[in-house]
Amino acid sequence: MNKQKILIVDDTPSNLVALEEILLTIDAEIITASNGQEAVREALKHNFDIIIIDIQMPDMSGFESIEYIRKEQKNRHIPVIFQSAVFTDEISKVKGVTAGGIDFITKPILSEELLRGKIKLLLELQRQTQELQITKLALEKKQRELEQANFQLKQMAFFDSLTGLPNRYAFTNQLSMEIARARREKQMLALLFMDLEKFKYINDTYGHRVGDEVLIEASNIFEKTIRNGDVLARLGGDEFIISLHNIQSVENAERVAAKINRAFEKILNIHNIAIRLTVSIGISFFPQDGQNDEELIRNSDMAMYKAKTTMSNSYALYNRELHKQSLNRLYMENGLSTALKNREFKLCYQPIVNSDKKIYGVETLIRWHSPDRGVIPPSEFIPVLENNRSIIEVTEWIITQACLQNVYWEKSGRHPLITTINLSAYQFQDPNLIPFLQGIIQKTQVNPRNIEIEITESTSMKDVDKSIEVLRELKKLQLKIAIDDFGTGFSSLNYLAQFPVDILKIDKSFTDQILNNSHVLDIIITIINLAKKLNMKIIAEGVENREQFDLLSHYGCDFIQGYYISEPLNEAAIDKYLLKHACI
Ligand code: C2E
Ligand code: CA
Ligand code: CA
Repeated sequence: MNKQKILIVDDTPSNLVALEEILLTIDAEIITASNGQEAVREALKHNFDIIIIDIQMPDMSGFESIEYIRKEQKNRHIPVIFQSAVFTDEISKVKGVTAGGIDFITKPILSEELLRGKIKLLLELQRQTQELQITKLALEKKQRELEQANFQLKQMAFFDSLTGLPNRYAFTNQLSMEIARARREKQMLALLFMDLEKFKYINDTYGHRVGDEVLIEASNIFEKTIRNGDVLARLGGDEFIISLHNIQSVENAERVAAKINRAFEKILNIHNIAIRLTVSIGISFFPQDGQNDEELIRNSDMAMYKAKTTMSNSYALYNRELHKQSLNRLYMENGLSTALKNREFKLCYQPIVNSDKKIYGVETLIRWHSPDRGVIPPSEFIPVLENNRSIIEVTEWIITQACLQNVYWEKSGRHPLITTINLSAYQFQDPNLIPFLQGIIQKTQVNPRNIEIEITESTSMKDVDKSIEVLRELKKLQLKIAIDDFGTGFSSLNYLAQFPVDILKIDKSFTDQILNNSHVLDIIITIINLAKKLNMKIIAEGVENREQFDLLSHYGCDFIQGYYISEPLNEAAIDKYLLKHACI
């Protein structure tokens, strides 16, 4: 620490000398001034810890000098000791003017010891004050740093660092305030939930740098389509959300959504990669679709899902129906998780006959006997199973049961009977499919020629080359193959020729129309003829009456399936049925 400094001021040189002598033993630098002006100059130059000043001086009195000196901010609190031979009333006056840190001593100095003691004390006080000051400054600096850090934390807590948009936290906070206001002022709010399609694919294919750029670009596009006062936020990943204030009608929100979809109808150039972005938008409204931020966001998300599964680059509105569906789904997920273990699945078999009504085979159809909701059809629970991946376990059970049943029929002396088994799209794409089936064939000792695998047309058309490969593998296992729901999956007939397929099952929607729509009948006749050329057989599904049966038989349809022949029958009932009816 620097040496402390004392300024002594007196116009009588001998007084200065005397004072200096008294202070000799004090560890401080002494600076002298012989008049007020000099004192002021010195006080400007140095930082004094104490000033000892004579009151009576020519031109500028001690009081005046101190008043001057203390005008300087840094000198405001220097302790001052006034010296005088005589004290007048003036002293009390000045005491009132100059705040604090003043003392008075008489000349000549009576007790040198007392003065030294006083000065030492003041110096110590000054030292401590200065130390405190330094600590205070350091504290203030720390405080500022903390505030800065706090601000940054806040930024991070409220804003997405990539796009600079508000994040989910900030958005939901604001949304709940907006909802409160909309409720008060009886206004309508809309939420647009947006999800970039294929973003994951772009990110995986081109890397994060491109992915990040795409997100920024998308946020720019969103930003351009909204008005002042609407709030755009990034919820995370490739999900964005917009809240539209005080909208007048549902159509207004739809217009904004359509505008966003349109804005995405252009090719982006990102790091020289041409990227076509598309976006799925789900819309929910306050107050119709939810009462709080959570409900509204969840329901707009659900609507987004609907948009995504219906059409690329489109929007959809939330509605209660959708909500019911998802509750239903949740309910089913719970029930299905234990259904297999609890033996709630049962198989039905529906006969398939030729034009002489002789039995060609049976189609295996699954039923779920839910303990609290009764029999649930496969169209409702198979998609849920597929989503859960538990479809693998369940399919293993179905195929094993169906094969064992076929073995039983064969052993009990009934004629070679075909058992057809439906394979879900998910299963068909499973790379393990072939060993999986091989395992079941071995385990059950079924004759694979008796088993016909049904794959829907839309499944087989998803990736044609891959399908051909899988179908060939299936054929190697000597299984029969049928294309299910034929006519609904936009088959290109070119591909059909390459598919190693035994059977086409004409979809029920065609059967339904053959009697009153000649155009449909023409199509069926064409398919039948085409199948003949390709060496495939035809099954018509959903035949419900004699007229349909006769017409289809007349045009050379090989096999018929439908309520007209029989509904799907449980194990006991199909057994009886097979005893009563002849096989081919
Ligand atoms: P699908 O393969 O097209 O099965 C034919 C559906 O039509 C069956 O419905 C059957 O009961 C019904 N059906 C048959 N004849 C008639 C008729 O004359 N009129 C009417 N209105 N309907 C008729 P189901 O059993 O409800 O099966 C629906 C769909 O569920 C099946 O369509 C199939 O895609 C799937 N599915 C059924 N069982 C299984 C299974 O074990 N595994 C897999 N992956 N899917 C299955
Ligand atoms: Ca089928
Ligand atoms: Ca079908």
